[in-house]
Order: sequence, then C-alpha cells, then structure tokens
Amino acid sequence: MALPFAKSLCFCPITASNCLALNQIQNHLEMVRKKIVAGNWKMNKSYDEGIALVEQLLDELDMDKVGETHVIISPPSVLLQPITELLMFTPGIAVAAQNCHQEESGAYTGEISARMIKSIDADAVILGHSERREYFKEDDSLIAKKMKAVLANELMVIYCCGESFEERKTGNHIAVVEKQLRTALADFSTKDAENIIVAYEPVWAIGTGEVATVQQAGEMHTHIRKVLADIFGDTSQNMSILYGGSVKPDNAAELFAHPDIDGGLIGGASLKSNDFMSIIYALSK
Ligand code: PEP
Repeated sequence: MALPFAKSLCFCPITASNCLALNQIQNHLEMVRKKIVAGNWKMNKSYDEGIALVEQLLDELDMDKVGETHVIISPPSVLLQPITELLMFTPGIAVAAQNCHQEESGAYTGEISARMIKSIDADAVILGHSERREYFKEDDSLIAKKMKAVLANELMVIYCCGESFEERKTGNHIAVVEKQLRTALADFSTKDAENIIVAYEPVWAIGTGEVATVQQAGEMHTHIRKVLADIFGDTSQNMSILYGGSVKPDNAAELFAHPDIDGGLIGGASLKSNDFMSIIYALSK
C-alpha cells in the first residue's frame, strides 16, 4: 500500500533525476518510527480563521527547526479541502480528518466517508477520540470498522485510546487501554500496522489542563508498545505512539523526552500558532 505520508511528508524536492534516491529515502522513512505532532482543532475555527491559522504557520514555521518531525493538522470537515490545497507544496505537513463513516457512501445524512476524504488528497483520519466515544457512543468494534474503511482508502489512521478518571482511580487504566487496543486492532495485518498511529489520551487530561506526569504517560506508552508487539510483532517497533491531553509549550519537552513517547496529539494548544509551533520545536530538539 502506498503510504500517504511518503507522498506528503517527504523532505526532498521531487525531480526526475533524484527519483531513485527519493524512493530509497521513502523506504528508509517507512522503516523508522516517525516523530509526529498532530493538531486536533475539534469544532473550532470558521473558514477564514482556519485559513488564517494555516497561513500563519506557513509564514512562521521554521522548517529547518522542524527537521524530521512530521506535522499533521486536523481541521473540521469544511476546512479539509482548502487546507489540503494550501499545504499541497509543503512537505512535512499532512492533513487529517477528525472522523469518518464506516460505509463508503449511502443514506447517512451528515456523515463523510473515507473515500471522500481520500478524494480531496488528505492523508489521515483520527478515529476513536474520547469525545466521539462519549458523545456519539462509538465503541471499539465500530472504530475497527471505520479503521478498515480508512486503510482500504490508503489513508493513515490516528487511533485514540485512553482511560477515564474513574478507571485510573480504581487502578484499571492499564487493563482498559489494553482491551481497547486488542478489540480495535485485532483484525489488522502487519501491513495495516504501518499506517496506524496510536494516540494515548487519558480522558481526564483532555481539555482539562491536567496533564499526565511523564511517569504516568511513560508507563502507559511502554505498555502500549508491548501490546502492539504482541499483536504486530516487529512491525510495532515502527509504530508511533503519541501522547494527548493538555500538552502545552511548557510541558511538551519533558513528555517528549520519554523514549516511548513519539510525539503529541494536541487539542487546545493547536489553535494558537505560537503554542503549536513551540510544541513542534519541543519534539524536534
Ligand atoms: C485532544 O483533543 O485530542 C486533546 C488532547 O485536547 P487538549 O490538548 O486540549 O487536552
């Protein structure tokens, strides 16, 4: 399967003469764990505000400082196409939808499909965000169906998992997240795994200002990596695991220093270009 990231997150200008070298670099990129900062805008920004935010990032983000960190922007659906077009010639910044329907088309008023997202050349879809689990009652078997649709359309998945405050308080957090992973990922191949990014997002830390400690996040990421190894074998070594939950410029570097934290899924702080850029630079160090 062609990796959308290999297309949009390549760091070399494409010319006929360096095509072979480019393929070699892409193969290499596919073999290493990517460092990723993804901004989830949720239901924020009007058309003009969203375009202005991306234009500011394009003007101000220092790609030399960004280095090999991959940046993903996940705007609301109405902004997917204009932002994908704006970023078409910007290697290193990809675009993700925040959700999709599991069917390809049909009588599902208000929904968009993975095929539609692919047709505008976006790169990825976030699935299983805790807000979709809570407000739209999505569970891991539905999320697995959506994941199938996304991967069949050669898009990447950012799969979110995470425990509630109650589940952590009662000491069940590890078991809860492991069950989410095993239920959602059980039917996927190692080839599929190459296009799956996992985001650990403790629900109690999302939008609350309460961030997991490095020890709490690190312990979970290390466990997630073990579970992924059990499901996908060696391929799991190349899978990125992002932390999400109140990541801000002043706590990002400490979290990203943990060897099993490969980047972040950022909500509130991705709506302010300066904060988002600081977080990107914190991972790029
Ligand atoms: C999120 O929505 O995925 C998220 C992590 O939000 P915040 O950074 O605002 O906690």
